[in-house]
Amino acid sequence: MATVKCTCCGESKDGLEAAPFNDDMGQEVLANTCADCWKNWLGQQVMLINEHQLLPVNPEHGAILERNLKAFLKLPTSEGEADQVGTPPA
Ligand SMILES: [Zn+2]
Repeated sequence: MATVKCTCCGESKDGLEAAPFNDDMGQEVLANTCADCWKNWLGQQVMLINEHQLLPVNPEHGAILERNLKAFLKLPTSEGEADQVGTPPA
């Protein structure tokens, strides 16, 4: 397991064993996020999904989760702060 300089907590710690997604974002998470912060995000994601009844298979809901993931983990491509997620689009 490689050590990463985590953009979320700012520490150099153990990273993930593999990219969590098969795309650019997965590579970005792998390169910039430690395993501890990833675990924190997974907990946060469950809260967001429950709170706003998001369906990850719904592309619009997936985009909301993606924006929040980037903001939460402070990924370099993050466009800023996490959304104040309102009622998700039907
Ligand atoms: Zn971290």
